[in-house]
Amino acid sequence: PEAPAVTVEQTLAIIKPDAIHFADEIVEEIKSRGFTITQKRRLRLSPEQATDFYAEHYGKMFFPSLIAFMHSDDILVLVLAKPGAVQEWREMIGPTHPNKARQLSPESLRARYGTDQTRNAVHGSDSYFGAEREIRFMFPGTVTEPVYGGQLARDY
Ligand code: ADP
Ligand code: MG
Repeated sequence: PEAPAVTVEQTLAIIKPDAIHFADEIVEEIKSRGFTITQKRRLRLSPEQATDFYAEHYGKMFFPSLIAFMHSDDILVLVLAKPGAVQEWREMIGPTHPNKARQLSPESLRARYGTDQTRNAVHGSDSYFGAEREIRFMFPGTVTEPVYGGQLARDY
């Protein structure tokens, strides 16, 4: 049969160490916004893993504190699926700095759960290809091809 035209995009979400105690309520809110959670994993990143994950920020002033923070406790990693998932999840988390989030997007997760510019509660991939890289990083072996009508395109 013909694959439906709707493309269900995927993105990577992380509930960071500062918000791990709120993981259940954040997950409920994610589901209530129409995202499907296709993969889920709770783990504690090693400093090396955190360094690889945030490689694009290597050498910046805040890098050491970011790595120490991401290693400080468990994180909950989720793959979220929905049409337009990358952009919708970025909108739901809000701006990087929680103070800015509280001004511009008071309903956002970073506005409500974030503390400062490092401890900002949640992560979201910033682009389609960023999501692809991050999903493979957290879930090695995952097929990240487009999903049509809830099934992987290659199943047709
Ligand atoms: P985002 O997570 O919104 O994509 P970035 O990719 O720019 O933001 O930064 C990655 C993470 O590094 C942020 O979520 C935050 O935890 C931390 N961070 C970013 N900028 C700063 C900063 N200026 N000072 C301290 N920590 C920062
Ligand atoms: Mg980023």
